[in-house]
Amino acid sequence: MSAVYRVDLDAFARNLHRVREAVEPAAHMLVAKDDAYAHGLEPIVTRAVAEGVRWIGAFDVITGAAVRRVAGPDVRIFVWLIGGADDLAAGVAADLDLGIGDEALLDDLAGLDAGRPARVHLKIDTGLHRNGIRPERWEAALAQTSALIGAGRASFEGIWSHISEASDADDDDAREVFLTARDAARAAGLEPTFSHLAASAAGFARGEFREDLVRVGAFSYGIRPAGGPGEQELGIEPIATLRATVTAVDAAGVHLDVGSLHGVPSTLSGRFDVRTPEGPRRVETITPVETVLAPWAGARTGDEIAVFGRDALHTATDLAELVDTIGEEIALRVSPTVARAYIDSDA
Ligand SMILES: *Cc1c(COP(=O)(O)O)cnc(C)c1O
Repeated sequence: MSAVYRVDLDAFARNLHRVREAVEPAAHMLVAKDDAYAHGLEPIVTRAVAEGVRWIGAFDVITGAAVRRVAGPDVRIFVWLIGGADDLAAGVAADLDLGIGDEALLDDLAGLDAGRPARVHLKIDTGLHRNGIRPERWEAALAQTSALIGAGRASFEGIWSHISEASDADDDDAREVFLTARDAARAAGLEPTFSHLAASAAGFARGEFREDLVRVGAFSYGIRPAGGPGEQELGIEPIATLRATVTAVDAAGVHLDVGSLHGVPSTLSGRFDVRTPEGPRRVETITPVETVLAPWAGARTGDEIAVFGRDALHTATDLAELVDTIGEEIALRVSPTVARAYIDSDA
């Protein structure tokens, strides 16, 4: 045996149902960027579609096209990192919904004869300044969008934004900007079919942010917010476990075949315990290629140890809190070189 990241797709399915119930009547857009938060894009998308997910947020056009191949024709796929005219053309060809946060992309669309209208979701910058059309440029962008629709180059699908979810007050301010932008769009004759601005945290906690779609990544994978409500309170479960194998037992301790290169940050050395057949043992050292545990009497080469996650003493977010970061940061580090294995009663 060697190290494996074991993903329980049945637990994932339960989270999907929980998310659906929490955000309804809005629809759940499953965010699957970063290889589905490192859980593996293809198995995650396949199971999500089988569980009835009908929107997937894919981040960029390449990922969106990959999701299209896995998900088939009946799922809407939203992407919001679009590099320019070639990317736009590829996005339309893959039948993606395009999050447009840059007026230059509207110019590019004017020159693009893709054979069918591009599905546009205009992004208003509500304060994060990542991308998004600034409020002072919004009227111009609406006019440009109307012209594209008139020319058969675009269809107007929605208005969206991304909020910090760092404080309710900031989010309330962002929502005001969003609602003002939507009023302006309606006044300009552009009625959004889909409004969306919330991710996991606001989607669960704040009903007025749900609108038509809620873009939920973290909670779908059972990753709770650092310093926030627990999994039980949220009704979600961690879905993956990083499992390592004992490679040697010697005077230094019990050696495991995962290190920082595999996704266990070395800053966690000495800071957490793992479960062993003889009780919890401290993680004493993390090198690039291995982790060394405090010894126990019956330790044997080949034993399997859950380092973090679903079957372990600590989740990704527990470890994140020890080093002042967020659970996604730990989850996303699990290296692609670690084999993935799936528990899937649906397969
Ligand atoms: C990552 C991301 C999300 C999902 O955020 P979570 O907190 O993981 O639910 C939603 N929308 C956008 C634009 C994102 O980049």
